[in-house]
Amino acid sequence: YIVCKDVRKAFGSHEVLKGVSTQFYTGQVTTIIGASGSGKSTLLRAINRLEPHDSGSITIGGVEVTDDAHTLQRQRCEVGMVFQQFNLFGHLTVLDNLTLAPRRIHRTARAAANEQALQLLKRVGMQDHAHKYPWQLSGGQQQRVAIARALAMQPKVMLFDEPTSALDPEMVQEVLDVMRELARGGMTMVVVTHEMGFAREVADRVMFFDQGCIAHDAPPAEFFAHPASERIRSFLRRMS
Ligand code: ATP
Ligand code: MG
Repeated sequence: YIVCKDVRKAFGSHEVLKGVSTQFYTGQVTTIIGASGSGKSTLLRAINRLEPHDSGSITIGGVEVTDDAHTLQRQRCEVGMVFQQFNLFGHLTVLDNLTLAPRRIHRTARAAANEQALQLLKRVGMQDHAHKYPWQLSGGQQQRVAIARALAMQPKVMLFDEPTSALDPEMVQEVLDVMRELARGGMTMVVVTHEMGFAREVADRVMFFDQGCIAHDAPPAEFFAHPASERIRSFLRRMS
């Protein structure tokens, strides 16, 4: 569904993506792992055009990712993104966080948007918190709301950039459980994570980033059982 061909990106003289070519298929869950600074976030941000790539091409459902405003808005609806920092709107209630974009961009009527939002909150186990503000919620609860908010745009793909890294350990599982349910429902997902358990159990593919390149890409069983290089072996050792 998402096709990257020889995607390159540099910040000054620092090449962060050195020709990334890969595909993310409909219904698949791909986890991306790799050392800090290897370019994982930059690739996700390039897919969402938060960071334009220098050369190569990225297509979403066959449509090139460019600066064309109309296309970009449609693509941002198709591709939901969840960040490490939850980025909820602090001055809005949970419910309003979920309904803002559908009402503005899809022109959904308030009643219908509220209805849909409540269903999504139920799906992430947050239906009893609809009228609270983000500061009244724990980190895990905020992240579950952030996931529901992304889903409110009815995306075809969800990108997650270390969604549990900023959470206290006891809250990691509740967020992973929501993601696991999403995967079970057939959502196409690309997940940058340090959660090897999630990669092992939920992912269809594990991709290892090393210095701006995809160094290895394999189903989890194979990836973890037979690390393809000493670098991967030592990375996995540090993670466990
Ligand atoms: P981490 O695991 O720490 O999140 P990452 O694999 O996500 O790492 P990126 O965030 O993609 O890594 O960053 C890759 C490199 O690009 C890093 O060296 C980073 O300092 C650099 N970089 C990222 N964004 C910018 C920017 N806006 N300006 C300059 N350098 C940047
Ligand atoms: Mg990152």
